Amino acid sequence: METAELEKKIRERNGRMTRVRKAMLDFFGTAETPLTATSILELLAKRRITANRTTIYRELRFLEDTGVIHEVRIIGHGRSFELSGGHRHHLVCLGCHDVKSVAFKNHLDSEEERLLRDERFRVSDHSLEFYGLCDKCSE
Ligand SMILES: [Zn+2]
Ligand SMILES: [Zn+2]
Repeated sequence: METAELEKKIRERNGRMTRVRKAMLDFFGTAETPLTATSILELLAKRRITANRTTIYRELRFLEDTGVIHEVRIIGHGRSFELSGGHRHHLVCLGCHDVKSVAFKNHLDSEEERLLRDERFRVSDHSLEFYGLCDKCSE
């Protein structure tokens, strides 16, 4: 989703476009990794925008309620969020705890078809995280 599209979505919900909110949309739009409240505060600081943690939590809840972002559950990582729409998996490094989002194409379609056939289970979504070591940590 483009930032303009996201802004539209927020306006439809009568949300105001505050400086913090606009910056957060930028961060989510360009992030290659799910964001936590802590990483958002760091990114805001780089732009010299001050906000307290409570504001960030409130913003995260608003953006989640609006359907702009969704929570990603990663073991050993704080509450993380990423942009909705678009299907991603995550590479989680057990050494440095870096998380990278990766896009897969049609990778599980045949498995989901098999589940429908063999288990009579209709899959509507799945989440898949890979745990291991990144290049730096495996040296
Ligand atoms: Zn690593
Ligand atoms: Zn998938």
